[in-house]
Amino acid sequence: MMNDIEGGKINLVITKDLSRLGRNYIEAGRHRELFSEHGVRYIAIHDNHDSLNDDAYNISTPIKEIMNEMYAAEVSRKVRATKKLMANQGKFSNSRAPYGYLKDPTNKYMLVVDDKVSHNVVRIFELYLSGKTARSIADIFNRENITTANEYFYSTIGKPSPYKNNKNKWGSATIMGMIKNPAYYGAMANGKRKIASFKNHNVVYNDMDDWIIVDDTHEPLVSKEVWLEAQQVKVSNKKDTVRCRRTTDEVSLFAGILKCSDCGGNLALKRRLNKTVDIKEYYQCGTYAQKGKNVCSAHYIEMDVLTEAVLSDIQRYAVLAAEDEKKLIDRILKANDTFQTKNLLRYEKTIRESKNRINEIDGILQNLYEDKISKEITADIFKRMSQKYRDEQTKLISETEQLEAELADGQRIQRDMNGLVKRIKECLTIDCLTRSIVVDLIDKIVVSENYSVDGEKNIDIDIVYKFGRIEDEEKELSVG
Ligand SMILES: [Zn+2]
Repeated sequence: MMNDIEGGKINLVITKDLSRLGRNYIEAGRHRELFSEHGVRYIAIHDNHDSLNDDAYNISTPIKEIMNEMYAAEVSRKVRATKKLMANQGKFSNSRAPYGYLKDPTNKYMLVVDDKVSHNVVRIFELYLSGKTARSIADIFNRENITTANEYFYSTIGKPSPYKNNKNKWGSATIMGMIKNPAYYGAMANGKRKIASFKNHNVVYNDMDDWIIVDDTHEPLVSKEVWLEAQQVKVSNKKDTVRCRRTTDEVSLFAGILKCSDCGGNLALKRRLNKTVDIKEYYQCGTYAQKGKNVCSAHYIEMDVLTEAVLSDIQRYAVLAAEDEKKLIDRILKANDTFQTKNLLRYEKTIRESKNRINEIDGILQNLYEDKISKEITADIFKRMSQKYRDEQTKLISETEQLEAELADGQRIQRDMNGLVKRIKECLTIDCLTRSIVVDLIDKIVVSENYSVDGEKNIDIDIVYKFGRIEDEEKELSVG
């Protein structure tokens, strides 16, 4: 059919609903583009869609496509994956209302002002505009023993904070995250909580990798002027970002580390001049960037979003390391079978036994030789028996060498582990993420395409640490 469309033989396509147009909304979108390029009218009967009435890029169409049955199955699979990954690794998620707001009890997609703490948000903006850095604002809040955003969040959901035993402090990353969050002037940003807009049918959908800010979606805590002014301070005060100050010729923070979940290629750093605020740095799939959307999709992720998610995940381990270094090492070893002390002891035992047998065979061969000399056995029997023992010995020697190499690996990994855990522990007090921390601790980070769950934009960020994976005791960790 596509060939006929390209050949100009078709000018009308009708399907039962939008989901019939492609296996997923990306494919469906591609097909609709092709239709519009070739002037083909497209009608989806059940979804009330007609490209003659609607602009082909009608804002609600992609949302319907996301919500369509076929994609819904895909979404729920990913939700499960996300939840599981979240439990294992503290996945990034936007499911938490920003500090200063609560989810509206009557509509979880809407935000209402949290009177108990909203004044703290206002004060952060005031202090910031008066010239205080995020670091010094964090210090002020800590001096005044103001309950941290994290701890407060857990108190609102009636769960103990996983940070309880940590010296629970305000950090500059949290303060900066708040200053950058357009929610505080009453806007929804970057497709976060898109469902609110979806229900009102006023979503502004631009491009897969470019969600636009929707103003006036809830009560502001600061005026837009104040918020914009704070963004200007941010630009002139680079050291307040959670990324450490870097020179421009340095390799990017995550270069070579970020992988596309779909094509496996590297994500590439891009810079874009944002109309309202500053230069926005983001990563996207390099395959997509070079070969286009027929090969892969954007896998767009903002540098700041990624950096905060990664830093906060590392700091989660730092909390564990600070609490009990040995326990963390044990947990890592436990989760990574081959590194286990128990296994290494088993290796040692097998090697010892094999070496004993190799020596024993030496003795047997010696005896055989003597028996042959004294003519107690014939040359023929000697040949047969000695060959049998030599074969066994050769096999044992090569197996033992193999085991010794594996044992050495395991021992090295155990030693490295101590170094790694020390390195993680150092991260407890850092305010910004450096290239060296990323390289020292992280093997790779696999980034999924954006997808929508209950109207919230999700990106799975699968962080593969050099120390492998460990099971998380806290199942409710998320980065807000
Ligand atoms: Zn890709």
